Amino acid sequence: MTRHALVALIISALVVAAPLAQKNAPAKPGGNAKLDALKQEAVADVESRTQFAQQMVDQIFSYGELGFQEFETNRYLIDILKKNGFAVQEGIAGIPTAFMATWGSGKPVIALGSDIDCIPQASQKPAVAWHEPMIEGAPGHGEGHNSGQAVNITAALAVKKIMEREKLPGTLRIWTGTAEELVGTKAYFVRAGFFKDVDIALFTHVGENLDVSWGERAGNGLVSVQYSFVGETAHAAANPWRGRSALDAVELMDIGWNFRREHLRLSQRSHNVITDGGDQPNVVPRTASVWYYFRETDYPHIKELWETGDTMAKAAAMMAGVDLLPTKVLGSAWPQHFNKAVAETTWANIQKVGLPQWSDEDQQLAKALQKELKNPRAEGLRTKLSDGLQGPVRENTGGGSDDIGDISWNVPTVTLRYPSNIPGLPGHNWANAISMATPIAHKGVIAGAKVQAMTLLDLVSRPELVEQAWKYFKDVQTKETKYEALIRPEDTPAIWLNKATMDKYRPEMKKYYYDPSRFKNYLEQLNIKYPTVRSTTTQ
Ligand SMILES: [Zn+2]
Repeated sequence: MTRHALVALIISALVVAAPLAQKNAPAKPGGNAKLDALKQEAVADVESRTQFAQQMVDQIFSYGELGFQEFETNRYLIDILKKNGFAVQEGIAGIPTAFMATWGSGKPVIALGSDIDCIPQASQKPAVAWHEPMIEGAPGHGEGHNSGQAVNITAALAVKKIMEREKLPGTLRIWTGTAEELVGTKAYFVRAGFFKDVDIALFTHVGENLDVSWGERAGNGLVSVQYSFVGETAHAAANPWRGRSALDAVELMDIGWNFRREHLRLSQRSHNVITDGGDQPNVVPRTASVWYYFRETDYPHIKELWETGDTMAKAAAMMAGVDLLPTKVLGSAWPQHFNKAVAETTWANIQKVGLPQWSDEDQQLAKALQKELKNPRAEGLRTKLSDGLQGPVRENTGGGSDDIGDISWNVPTVTLRYPSNIPGLPGHNWANAISMATPIAHKGVIAGAKVQAMTLLDLVSRPELVEQAWKYFKDVQTKETKYEALIRPEDTPAIWLNKATMDKYRPEMKKYYYDPSRFKNYLEQLNIKYPTVRSTTTQ
């Protein structure tokens, strides 16, 4: 047994012993023997659902669906929730692959969310420590969004059982972060009123440690905009003077933006892809489109960046002599701000649960992948929680986004991160898929579900906690900053995105859908040895 394993064993023994010891002890301030006992029961219940959670993680991994096309995942989750007594509203906010499931009644209303979509070109055989796609060019779970619903649903079912028996009032909602990789839906959920009566939002996202934070989080908000131009075709050699190239406008806009980039704030991130670059070289392109992400640390700066982009597009159209069509917003996200009271409660539960006990095989896979990626410190999986609860970012130098930001500015929210992935990976990449249908992901999910279950019990048993959360939300977080949606009244969810890609790959992907009636886990179905590492890295 390793030292870490021994420590983990002692901690878990203490966790088991703690409620027993408290039974005879006088109630101390903040202590609650009954609540502790219920939490202990929920933790054991989550543990007993290990196979249920594993199947969910593996099943969604095998579906590998891109944003707005999560039809199999959606159907699968809705069936599980209905079977377990949830009422499900399907296709919410005009999004076919989004739902809101509800169980229980009365206050508090707690909404548990997590993302479900995957990453283009991230197809990867799980547990193999190098790039080996299952299907060349196909999408895959290169961000680990196949695991978060298992965290929430496993926790909710354990807590539901206790709430029923103890007759605890409260409503549990389960919802999907549909098309998160496009930051495509959460602002629409807010606009459609789905968070109006919610008291607390508990979000969860895969990470490399078990943690939570409060206050402004490092990273950016963003707006995602498509610019489309229309010119006129002509024979590109015989009569080029008769044509007007929409592609010229796209290229001029990109050149202009890249000059301007030097004079933008350091915290901005902006990037684009050309989604329509014309048809063939000898026909002057009549239509062309370019899709931009404009990221900044706060709402006014996102708006400013967006206006600069609009100016650039208009100027490019003038230079090319073409028309700029009305722009389309394809997604948006507010910067994230998390609730102090809920984060503190979650953090206390994280410390009780601790990190999973990793096997030698788990560590072997992690280290082999880190070496494969030439990570200078191939340290394997995390074996220590962070030193303390993380507070607001000191200097936000910008970075990624998640549209949970929009919800976090409407309802007290936290994001629980659970250790289902390997540290030191590039993100949005095949490497991030490798652990996601292996024991690493499964153990991380169970640890996350235990924390989530304990936090749910805190929220339904201690009304003062919900009050504190709203006090922070009203008196601190939103004292000066008020939420204004980045989506405009005329914008609608971009539900057509990714359809062509899924149509192309789905027939082949279907052959690899996980069949839990025949195989214990997905690795068994794929006949992959755990872990599969290069022979040199095993020495
Ligand atoms: Zn994500």
